[in-house]
Amino acid sequence: MKTIDYIYRFDPNNPTVKPPPEDVEIARQNLEDGNRLFSEWMKSCRSGTFSKGEPRYVVQCNGLEVGMVRTHGELPKQAPFAVVVGCSDARVPMEMLFGQGFNDLFVIRVAGNVLADECWGSIDYALTALAESIKVVVVLGHSGCGAVTASVDAYLKPLRYSSAKTSFMLRSILHRLFIPVHQAANGLVANWGPDAPRMPGYREALIESSVCLNAAQAAYSLQMEVERSWRSEIQVLYGVYNLFTHQVSMPPPVIGTGSDEARVNLAYAPTHPRDFDKLATEMAMRLRGHHPPPATAEIVLPSSSDAATK
Ligand SMILES: [Zn+2]
Repeated sequence: MKTIDYIYRFDPNNPTVKPPPEDVEIARQNLEDGNRLFSEWMKSCRSGTFSKGEPRYVVQCNGLEVGMVRTHGELPKQAPFAVVVGCSDARVPMEMLFGQGFNDLFVIRVAGNVLADECWGSIDYALTALAESIKVVVVLGHSGCGAVTASVDAYLKPLRYSSAKTSFMLRSILHRLFIPVHQAANGLVANWGPDAPRMPGYREALIESSVCLNAAQAAYSLQMEVERSWRSEIQVLYGVYNLFTHQVSMPPPVIGTGSDEARVNLAYAPTHPRDFDKLATEMAMRLRGHHPPPATAEIVLPSSSDAATK
């Protein structure tokens, strides 16, 4: 049978096959290598390149992590090497896209990967109770994010946001995204000129740039808190998962420019607020004249006509 397999492999003869990363750099390489594996598999799926012989896309899992060898009454110890804060979007499965298995990642998922109070509580738990194993914290945005799209649309058409039909629950997500959206908008005007909002592709560029700035903002806030409250040797990383290339990178590729196959990389968290302006300018330059694919909103704001009838 011709198949394109993506395999989670546990070897009963060698249950300790995957040692945990020893430091930040090895942890980062581990995540990047995993995403290369995943994106290559997805590329094979797109092109219909079938597996021959030994499957090429194999995630090695440590059998001890799932109790493959067990002593009566013992549970496997929780020992992830990375905390990942990502979006709830079903197209962005964290363990898979980072090529990781059981007990590797401590994952927090919320629409728009916003840092709400409960997220901070989960991060606090991970960095306190699991301090022995955690090496990095990763913030992962993704292209075409529905929560960011809804926030951009609310920014562009405030009447919709003000509608009584926009629930408190939805606003709790959107209002956390307005600052990165505003920074992205400033970058577009600074680079494209004052007519930027009326130029073709402006909304799509604003969405893609806001995704980057949202991840950068969260990474910056996390790095500050990690250094203040936890262990200074833990490093915060960030990136954007592209739904088209299935690669994690920062800055992300601009689809349709020939740079679709970007280098897989996770960036270190910004160290100063002025880094956001640089990122907004860089994204505006990269997106100028190019029209990313239209974003598919998971969250649909009420239309202005709906608002008018309330
Ligand atoms: Zn999303």
